[in-house]
Amino acid sequence: MIALDQHPSGRHFLQIPGPSPVPDRVLRALSLPTIDHRGPEFAVLGKKVLAGMQRVFQTRHPVVIYPSSGTGAWEAALVNVTSAGDAVLMFETGQFATLWHKMALRLGLRPEFLSSKGTDETTGLPWSWRRGVQAELIEKRLREDGGHAIKAVCVVHNETSTGATSDIPAVRRAIDAARHPALLMVDTISGLACTDYRHDEWGVDVAISGSQKGLMLPPGIGFNALSPKAVAASKTATLPKAFWAWDEIVEMNKGGYWPYTPNTNLLYALSESLDMLLGEGLEAVFARHRRWGEGVRSAVRAWGLPIQCADANVYSPVLTGVVTPAGVDADQIRTLIHERFDLSLGTGLGKVKGRMFRIGHLGDSNDLTLLAALAGVEMGLKLSGIALAGSGVQAAMDFFAAHPARAPGPLKP
Ligand code: PLP
Repeated sequence: MIALDQHPSGRHFLQIPGPSPVPDRVLRALSLPTIDHRGPEFAVLGKKVLAGMQRVFQTRHPVVIYPSSGTGAWEAALVNVTSAGDAVLMFETGQFATLWHKMALRLGLRPEFLSSKGTDETTGLPWSWRRGVQAELIEKRLREDGGHAIKAVCVVHNETSTGATSDIPAVRRAIDAARHPALLMVDTISGLACTDYRHDEWGVDVAISGSQKGLMLPPGIGFNALSPKAVAASKTATLPKAFWAWDEIVEMNKGGYWPYTPNTNLLYALSESLDMLLGEGLEAVFARHRRWGEGVRSAVRAWGLPIQCADANVYSPVLTGVVTPAGVDADQIRTLIHERFDLSLGTGLGKVKGRMFRIGHLGDSNDLTLLAALAGVEMGLKLSGIALAGSGVQAAMDFFAAHPARAPGPLKP
């Protein structure tokens, strides 16, 4: 039994796909003195983080910040725009799409769950848990819905349980091609600030996100990004909403305040992470994650193990799912790696439990921390008796060495 005050030496390797490692700058910002959330200083902080989040979501419209986890922000999105018994179209891409579907059921909606059918013969995993949304299935279903009973299409941008992304502009095109008025709702909880997300340009009506992934903060903030169409829908939607209701929050946010006590210190941390991300530039942030993903996948290929995402066009830059050989319990490997090397990997969730583990490549990381993580995984795989085709660490070293992060400039004295 590990006591809370017992820590192994050095930093824990938090290689799960969120919560991600928090930069020291952000941890220091968290420790600033808590201030009066009705006072003048707070309004400066409030306005800054709201404006910064609009830049991250790439929107001119309101962003709502909740003291909640991502699950709360999911609920906020649904209760603001739907009424009891409304049909919503969801797409099975993995565990998080499944949980959002379950939530819609609990809220008294009528969710329909589209899915790519079948099982992959080599790995035995369901196809729908190895790829992104198939937009053509959404278009087909919406064309059948001549009476426009479906009120919203809900998809997950980066499926954290599989390491597959979904093409959101393709989903928008599918809705438009079917000439359907459904709202487009996108969970970009683990995609935002890691991979490109353009709220206004892509025509998304409600986006959902959280603090503990690409924003590199501890858990505890949930986000909704809105569109004018979503705001209009919220005025007539009748599912009960009070704490989650957008109207009062958006109104008070105009002055930099909230109708309740916001999580002040996490907002300090958000302000710091926005300085870091926007200072680096979103394009550079996305390129950094793409490169990390490619480096980690080169390691998995060298080990000779299947990458869970079977479609190279939608590989996640945030995490990589590694499928273990049939008959080998992936969770035993994870446990061994944690015990021996103080390294946490993401567990297989839902339909892929025990068949895979996830390597997160997000948050406060760099080439060398990723290489160290891969070394821990490689040692763990070998200790578990898995025959590897080659060294993943060597492959990733070769990749990182051959692909410099940015053109090296002369050092200034
Ligand atoms: N959606 C996605 C894609 C996620 O990755 C997660 C959490 O990992 C959630 C939803 C749920 O968010 P939370 O655990 O913060 O409630």
